Amino acid sequence: MHAMKDTSSDAPDVLILGGGLAGLSAALHRGAAMGARPYRIVEKADRVGGFCRTEVRDGFLFDETGHWLHLRDPTIRALVLRLLGDNRVELRRRARIYQHGRFTPYPYQVNTHELPPEVAAECVLGFIEAQLGPGGAALRAREPETFGDFIRRHLGEGFAKHFMFPYNQKLWTVHPDELVASWCGRFVPRPTLEEVVRGAMGIVSEAGYNSTFLYPREGGIEALPRAFARELDGPIDLGVSPVEIDWRARRVRLSDGRILAYGALVNTIPLPELVRICRDCPEEVRAAAGRLKATVVTYVNVAARGEGPAHHWVYFPEAEFPFYRVGSASAVYPALAPPGARSFYVEFSHRGELSPSVAEAQAIDGLLRCGLLRSRDELLFAFAREIHGAYVIYDREHGPAKKAVLDFCAAAGIETCGRYGNWEYGGMEDAILGGKAAMARALERLSAAPKTAGGI
Ligand SMILES: Cc1cc2nc3c(=O)[nH]c(=O)nc-3n(C[C@H](O)[C@H](O)[C@H](O)COP(=O)(O)OP(=O)(O)OC[C@H]3O[C@@H](n4cnc5c(N)ncnc54)[C@H](O)[C@@H]3O)c2cc1C
Repeated sequence: MHAMKDTSSDAPDVLILGGGLAGLSAALHRGAAMGARPYRIVEKADRVGGFCRTEVRDGFLFDETGHWLHLRDPTIRALVLRLLGDNRVELRRRARIYQHGRFTPYPYQVNTHELPPEVAAECVLGFIEAQLGPGGAALRAREPETFGDFIRRHLGEGFAKHFMFPYNQKLWTVHPDELVASWCGRFVPRPTLEEVVRGAMGIVSEAGYNSTFLYPREGGIEALPRAFARELDGPIDLGVSPVEIDWRARRVRLSDGRILAYGALVNTIPLPELVRICRDCPEEVRAAAGRLKATVVTYVNVAARGEGPAHHWVYFPEAEFPFYRVGSASAVYPALAPPGARSFYVEFSHRGELSPSVAEAQAIDGLLRCGLLRSRDELLFAFAREIHGAYVIYDREHGPAKKAVLDFCAAAGIETCGRYGNWEYGGMEDAILGGKAAMARALERLSAAPKTAGGI
């Protein structure tokens, strides 16, 4: 391999790989206080946004499945409100679970009153046993190691059997006993005994992390990355990928032949891809990157005539429905479909092949069976899309493998962040926060190191 020579006079202080929310956020937080260091974003797609993309077809707006803005961090909320300005609506979640031929309210744990009485009783009694009974004592005595034990410990055997195990098996493609518990504390609502009992009696309670959310009034979720991009004055190279990183010399070779020197590097592209293009990456780090796994999500966008549905999205734990969730963007926000029409996204998680035509047929069949689609005559069109590497799988290899890769990145001076740059389960807010933090680390590195990249 030849030594890289800088062929560009546009060498940025900070080079950002990937123009999704994490990369855009890094650029936005480029340190005004430190004199706004020059940066450059390199993005392989034809536009910025990453997973925050909106596809328009025949007057329907389809995001890459539901992309609803649940914001908890006050600084990120203020930033998003400022960026979107008037282009936003605030909505209250209307989510359901479809099971036993009926739609019951979400969260399941505090809404068992609409379930068959035997199921509700098993859930409540299992919860009490897990919290107070002798059967739960062993699990209460220690921190759960697996997601399966987290569910047994905090929700009990009934909730595990009727919802948490079958639903999560579908979503993650593996049983919760094969996943570690460390990731889920924030994402899995843990109700109190009072909430569970009141929920069984039909005294409705709003639990869970995402009961209200924001969404752009116009333009679908892609309006958000566009709003970020409008604030940025630095160059964004579209349709360009890094093909080799010489981290010792702080130079990156790009797919268009340019070689850029950089002062600091912020990465948001998937870790396995990053490792693949890093020069002099130890074999054990490459092997570790090979152990990072993620599911594939195939989603089917469905356009139909008519009104409804009443629910924003519905979870499907039962095996006879091969998808794990169905959402309706037009139910959340009617402007996402033309007048008199509605849309659905039907989500399948898998590891092996799922052909688009099979997914489309299964989606329509499932929508008809549960009644979300009343008849085939309502159907206007349907098409499948695939997301490779959608949900990071937190199996036992995830922690050690990710640590090996992140340790290498730290030693190589690469600040890595984002859903795939940090190989994590997180939402848009996490990506924005991750980009901000990575840029802060990059700026620190810049102020500590000499400005020019070393030669090789
Ligand atoms: C099915 C699904 C549903 C979701 N629903 C929600 C939701 O309702 N609410 C929520 O808050 N979050 C949701 N998310 C999560 C949200 O999409 C992500 O957290 C966020 O968009 C991640 O941003 P990012 O910048 O980290 O990664 P990405 O969006 O993946 O951005 C990475 C960027 O890097 C680019 N890139 C990749 N490889 C290269 C390369 N080799 N060279 C150059 N560029 C490259 C990509 O094109 C992309 O633009 C969902 C995610 C999925 C998959």
